[in-house]
This record gives sequence, C-alpha cells and structure tokens, in this order.
Amino acid sequence: MKFDLMGTAHLTRSRVAVPPVKIFDNMAIIGTEGTNCIIIESDEGLILLDAMWPGEFFENLIEDGMRQLGYDPADIKILLISHGHPDHSGCGRHFVEKYGAVPYMSKVDYLFEKEFCEKANNPEWYFDFEVDHFLDEGDVLELGNAKVYCFSTPGHTPGGLSFIVPVYDQGRPHMAALWGGSAPPPALEANYQYLDSLGHFVEMCRKYHVDADFMNHPILNNGVERMAVMRNRLDQVANPFVIGEEGYVRFTGLYRQLAEDNIAAGCIDYTKG
Ligand SMILES: [Zn+2]
Ligand SMILES: [Zn+2]
Repeated sequence: MKFDLMGTAHLTRSRVAVPPVKIFDNMAIIGTEGTNCIIIESDEGLILLDAMWPGEFFENLIEDGMRQLGYDPADIKILLISHGHPDHSGCGRHFVEKYGAVPYMSKVDYLFEKEFCEKANNPEWYFDFEVDHFLDEGDVLELGNAKVYCFSTPGHTPGGLSFIVPVYDQGRPHMAALWGGSAPPPALEANYQYLDSLGHFVEMCRKYHVDADFMNHPILNNGVERMAVMRNRLDQVANPFVIGEEGYVRFTGLYRQLAEDNIAAGCIDYTKG
C-alpha cells in the first residue's frame, strides 16, 4: 500500500504505548504507535536518541520502558536530538536535570526550535533546556564503544541530523540508519532541500554499507509490526530491521515519494494536520 501522510500525520501524537523491545543487541525502541525514542548501548553508559513529546506521560513511558528492558535511566550519559521539533526533544529537560544526560543536537536546529516553539503558541510544544554540544555533517559521536555517524540533512527542519549506527544482531555486525526528519516541509524551497539531503544521505548509506533501518516515527516503516516480531522472534528467524543494502536504498524511496507528492500537492503543512 502507498503511504498516506495526510491521513496518518495526526498519529504522531498517539499516546498508545507499544511494548518496548530490543531490535539489536545494542539498540532498543521505546515509544508509542506514533513516535518513539531509541536507546543505544555502550560499555560506558547509554545514549538516548530523541526524547519524544513533552510531559509526564512520556517521561514515565521512557523510564518504565527502560526498566522493563533492564536499563537504568541513571545510565543515560548522552541525549541526542535528531531535529528541532517537540516530538523529539520533549522530555529532554527531565533527563538532563534528573540524570545528568548531556544534550547534543545541531546548532541550527537548537536556535530554530526555540523560535518554532515560541511561535507555535501551543502549551504542549515547548523547548525548555539549554544545549551547548553541537553536531554537524561528518561528526562522529562516541560513547565508550558506541559510535553514531552524523549527517546534516536539512529540509524537514533547517538543521536536522540523520544517523548511521553500527549495530549487532545475534552478534553479527550491521549498519543501521535513521532518516532523522520525516514529513516534507510546507515551503517549496525546503522540499527541494529535503530531496537534496536525501540524495546525500543515500550516498552516505551506500558508502557505510547500511543494511538495516530504525525509526523515530514507526508509522513510516511498519515499525510497530516489526517490533512485535522482535518481541516474539525465534532465534532462527531473520531480524525484520535488517533489510540489506539495496533494501535500505529502496526504503528511502518512501521519503522521496513523500516530498514529490508534497510538491505536486502544492506543499502542505502536516504539523497542522
Ligand atoms: Zn519533525
Ligand atoms: Zn517527528
């Protein structure tokens, strides 16, 4: 079936929790049917990639999910924000203040999100913590034996980042990618920028031999269904997040389709949907 962004955009605000699950030996997903965060393990603590929407519901969801998987939230050393929207930075302050997580994001999106949340005039959309560690194209975020390769992929937001992470499945190494922004933006120029960024990221994914994917909006990659497989996976069954090098490139066609459809439709502001 063809992905229908207009019909599903509202789902990003879902509060229907999905049971958390490890999708790789060193990576777990915690979230709802609409939005999720990611835990990356290292021998020196945890990276929390994205922090979902603001508020106690999501703070508890992340902490409870971590404990269910055997993690201690106090082990979060780094909070990595993919891009400057409140569904990815929401609980940031909680983890920074309560557990001392050090936040990282791009400087462009740090400045962008402050303004975006002020202008949105929505009590649920706020950005309330300081960031002074910034990432950009080509940076490698390291914590112990974990690495996150960072790429600047503006379009969805002006300073969005996408990531490639070395992961293991039953001990076998893979390279997993996250396209950090999702819905194409409302301004025409930004849609062209989105497509340029996607082209660049696909090139980097080929270079790094990406053969697996993960997500921050599971509606975009059948993530909920694949998480269910992982919760009940038999040892000999393939990991559904490992899709092969050509498979990953084919998957990015979804984002190309979204931007091309959006341009054809005259550019829609999905955040208002
Ligand atoms: Zn966003
Ligand atoms: Zn989002």
